[in-house]
Amino acid sequence: MKSTGIIRKIDELGRIVLPIEMRRTLEISERDALEIYADGHTIVLKKYVNTCVFCGNPGKTHSFREKNICKGCIKEIKGTQGKVTSVLLETRPGASHEAMLIEESADAVFIFVGSVPQTSLVSGGFNVDTDEAGYIKTDGCMASSVPGLFAAGDVRVSPFRQVVTAAGEGAVAAHCAAAYIDKLKGEIY
Ligand SMILES: Cc1cc2nc3c(=O)[nH]c(=O)nc-3n(C[C@H](O)[C@H](O)[C@H](O)COP(=O)(O)OP(=O)(O)OC[C@H]3O[C@@H](n4cnc5c(N)ncnc54)[C@H](O)[C@@H]3O)c2cc1C
Repeated sequence: MKSTGIIRKIDELGRIVLPIEMRRTLEISERDALEIYADGHTIVLKKYVNTCVFCGNPGKTHSFREKNICKGCIKEIKGTQGKVTSVLLETRPGASHEAMLIEESADAVFIFVGSVPQTSLVSGGFNVDTDEAGYIKTDGCMASSVPGLFAAGDVRVSPFRQVVTAAGEGAVAAHCAAAYIDKLKGEIY
């Protein structure tokens, strides 16, 4: 984030005036909506863009339980009286078959947005082996490609990431790390 050097005082109603040059540059017009984000002690103002919570596309959306959903996605989630009752899924029974729609009854829809491993701590000087997505590769002892560096939990290449697996892997990593240190000290038992 870059400092603009502009300091403005908040009035008695909590309002500030955004400089006209800044509004012109960012194409913010009168009565445009701004979204307010908080990051610790920092407040960020961003031009509000109406996007669909499912596909992320901007444009005309409808509000469903205070979430914006576009017309294309609404077609695939059915419901009555504000409650989800079913979802329409597209399936292809075989490579040569045409896509067909099936309807599955459902009480709710959860969106999986994917995940990004937070491995920046070791991505710099360590040169540790990771997979394409950035997850750290380890052996069964949770040892990484860098001697003495162990990884456990969500940062590790794993078919399943849950609290129970992270805690278990943490126990294995701690045990193996202790054995590694003992070996360095020549205290193998
Ligand atoms: C929305 C959601 C729902 C989930 N629901 C479930 C569930 O119902 N049941 C279940 O078992 N699992 C669930 N999980 C998965 C579970 O939360 C994780 O698998 C588990 O927390 C992994 O533990 P961890 O210790 O590896 O990572 P985390 O719990 O993510 O802990 C890593 C910590 O390291 C800190 N950190 C990151 N980078 C740095 C750095 N550079 N320096 C210092 N600290 C740093 C982070 O702030 C964080 O506190 C869910 C996950 C999500 C995102």
